[in-house]
Amino acid sequence: MNVTLQNLTKEFPGRGKKQPQPVVAVKDFTFRIPHGKLVGLLGPSGCGKSTTLNLLSGLQKPTSGRIFFGEDDVTDLPPEHRGVGLVFQNYALYPHLTVKQNITFPLENRKGKEKLTKAQMAQMALEAAKLVQIQELMDRRPGELSGGQQQRVAIARALVKMPRILLLDEPLSNLDARLRLQTREEIRRIQRSTGITTVFVTHDQEEAMSISDLIVVMKDGVIQQTGAPQAVYDDPANLFVARFLGNPPINAFAGDIRGGQLYLGGEAVLQTPGLPDQPVTAAVRPEGFLPQADGPLRCAFRGVEVMGRDVTILSAHPDHHAPVIRAIVSAREAAAPAGDNVRFALKPDKVFLFHRDTGERIRF
Ligand code: ATP
Repeated sequence: MNVTLQNLTKEFPGRGKKQPQPVVAVKDFTFRIPHGKLVGLLGPSGCGKSTTLNLLSGLQKPTSGRIFFGEDDVTDLPPEHRGVGLVFQNYALYPHLTVKQNITFPLENRKGKEKLTKAQMAQMALEAAKLVQIQELMDRRPGELSGGQQQRVAIARALVKMPRILLLDEPLSNLDARLRLQTREEIRRIQRSTGITTVFVTHDQEEAMSISDLIVVMKDGVIQQTGAPQAVYDDPANLFVARFLGNPPINAFAGDIRGGQLYLGGEAVLQTPGLPDQPVTAAVRPEGFLPQADGPLRCAFRGVEVMGRDVTILSAHPDHHAPVIRAIVSAREAAAPAGDNVRFALKPDKVFLFHRDTGERIRF
């Protein structure tokens, strides 16, 4: 089912002297989530991700704007009538109930025609448990499970109602690194096999990039860019998005366009035909540097980090925004420089230019 968020705004009123101004947590958010896709809502802490999810679930009401599930306007529907499955960071399982009882819990209160027999509930719980592969653990209590297993129970509980959409709010935050990786692949598998339209909130760009069909990058309540993860990485709309995606992060320099060329530190490092002279921020992906003995960009050599197949050359440049430039090159290209400097040519498709003041993209 498609989900449409139309001009959604959520404003929290000011609260006396401590916070006199209202907070606009989500501002004019318009996006259509295509049927059966997994959408990653991504952005730094406080950008409005959880609020957007809460608007979708019905836990919060928008100040203005509408939400549609398919053709249905659900803006005024309470959460229990929206048919959403919710999974939070902290699992929120009942400690005194078994896994099976936790999963069947959302089915217990059905009334009238919807009322289910014990056998029906047990069958539905077993099917949901199988999806997340915890059918062996049905008689245990949450305290007897690992964090990853508890989160799977929470996902099974969200799935047992056959929700129209699945909403996941930082579901991996409480897991250790290995379990995070495993569980995120698990979520992807479950989402694919059920085909449920899913929204996944995270501040971790790598997590969002790895499992989402589409990402929505937010800042200060405003959508910055939407699209397939690779497309957004390859074609960021502004400096914020360019910086937010990618690990190691993009390398940003203060540069100048003069006479159709990009200058960094007095050296012409790239052709930018047709661009008017102006100050810019030039950002280079770590994989955009090509070590070359006579390359135009001269940086102070700081060292090398070997990571198996690839090598990171660490260097510095007076116009770079951070102390260290990280250039990822293949081990073959990484011969140590002869002197104190390392020289690079730049790969044009890995260099993005932005207005120095606004951070908006300048295409060339
Ligand atoms: P995090 O990753 O830290 O959870 P987030 O991106 O999910 O952050 P939200 O929780 O949606 O961000 O918050 C967005 C903004 O709205 C923040 O500035 C937050 O302080 C504010 N906010 C959230 N809930 C309320 C509330 N109930 N009352 C007032 N302000 C709120």
